[in-house]
Amino acid sequence: MDYTWHEYRQQSDYFAAALVEEGLQWGDRVAILSENRFEWLIADQGVFSAGGVTVPLHTSLAVEQVVWQLDHSDSRWLVLSGEEQWQRLAPYLAEFSQLEGIIFLEPLKLPQVGLDGPVLLSWNTFLASGRHALFRSPKRVELREENIQSEDLATIIYTSGTTGEPKGVMLSHGNLVSNAVNRQKMAKYTSHDIKLSWLPYSHVYARTVDCFMSAYVGMTVVLARSPQTLREDLLLSEPTWMTGVPRFYEKIWRTLKPLSNEKRKAKLREIFGRRIRCVSCGGAPIATEIVEGFRQAGLPLLVGYGLTETSPVLTLNSESNDKPGTVGKAIPEVELKIASSGEVLVRGPQVMQGYWKDPGVTEEALLDGWLHTGDLGSLDSEGYLNIHGRCKDLIVTSQGKKIAPLHIEQLITADPAIEQAVVYGEGCPFLSAIIVPDFAYLLSVKGWEAPGSTVRGQGNGLEDNWNAPDVRAYLLDCVQKQLASVSREEQVR
Ligand code: ATP
Repeated sequence: MDYTWHEYRQQSDYFAAALVEEGLQWGDRVAILSENRFEWLIADQGVFSAGGVTVPLHTSLAVEQVVWQLDHSDSRWLVLSGEEQWQRLAPYLAEFSQLEGIIFLEPLKLPQVGLDGPVLLSWNTFLASGRHALFRSPKRVELREENIQSEDLATIIYTSGTTGEPKGVMLSHGNLVSNAVNRQKMAKYTSHDIKLSWLPYSHVYARTVDCFMSAYVGMTVVLARSPQTLREDLLLSEPTWMTGVPRFYEKIWRTLKPLSNEKRKAKLREIFGRRIRCVSCGGAPIATEIVEGFRQAGLPLLVGYGLTETSPVLTLNSESNDKPGTVGKAIPEVELKIASSGEVLVRGPQVMQGYWKDPGVTEEALLDGWLHTGDLGSLDSEGYLNIHGRCKDLIVTSQGKKIAPLHIEQLITADPAIEQAVVYGEGCPFLSAIIVPDFAYLLSVKGWEAPGSTVRGQGNGLEDNWNAPDVRAYLLDCVQKQLASVSREEQVR
């Protein structure tokens, strides 16, 4: 099914009109709980045009988390994909006294609920009522788009909570628009570009870039049917660019690595199609070897960096300015500086307004007018940013040294036998969870210890070798010895 950007706007106006007709007030929250689909984007834009605030909920959240976020955001309306999500949520309905209605995207026989429960409506009925409200005469419904100010709240996005309780990141219309426009100023896509869109719209990246920026440029966006069908969808849509996460490129690289450069080129065309010009990546670190490997095989893999709190893009490697190993340069209007602690600080028009209902945490994050990203980084002489890890992940060794685990993870994963490494300090001894191609095993690596501890079985701790040139060989030796001591049965398990 094809839609023009005009049809997208038209349908979102119908959705907006229906919300206004139902009594949605300025700033009221409307949650969306659905996998990616065209209606997701229509509903999102519709909420904006009605003066509301979208609360995207990720479909993989546990039902308790969904309930918590619906409640914490005081959502008045919920757009729900269909039967499966309904079955999960229905038992909790009584807890949402503020919820006025649920709009189902999939056509299904609407469930019955008691008189006091929210009204249940189908997408088509809701849109039809909005269309009627927009065109009827007299008393036509007025949309609120014209009155929206840049500082008005557009969306609340709950971060995953990897650093504690989920926090509701508040992004304004100005935040989202400036990020879409400034990213485009750096990347310079055209209306001839075709993007394959598959990252979840419940994260800010796909919304800002695949929808708002693409609409601004007027480029074609192809919605992948699902993350599982991505490879097939690539062949069907033949995009000129796409964005993936490191894991996606790592898997491809594993199949490319043993090949000659010529064969890699051919394989990349086979996977991404003839029209592909570049691919982008972000959200987590990716090995420089992979970025270099793609580049040498003729497909630039452009790494960017950002946070939900920054709508999200902060830095970018672009086709004309690309430096493998870095996360690129700041996009226009973004100011970056590195604090004496090594933390990356940010200022700019896309920095969030704060955390929903959490002034204390907001104050900590937006200290002295700069957003404290929680990431450790450095800027090189040309202005490219390097990310070294997260502040909160720092491990203090028995020598009192502060070490970013990301660096050690990169050293370990540079070995072809090791697919992934997660390094973390544990109460006392230092543990690494190492995943190699055939099996996963929790591995204790000698050497890294909490302050005051001694090194088990070694007179010489890893921290003493930290600056030694053969630190990687030392590490791998530790890893290999550990692996050798694991029985075959355990490995298979
Ligand atoms: P939390 O819930 O703890 O706030 P999150 O992972 O849910 O974390 P996101 O906003 O999704 O928050 O992710 C932002 C983080 O992802 C950044 O702070 C940074 O640590 C990491 N990140 C993003 N891009 C890159 C990159 N290119 N290289 C390394 N790390 C990156």
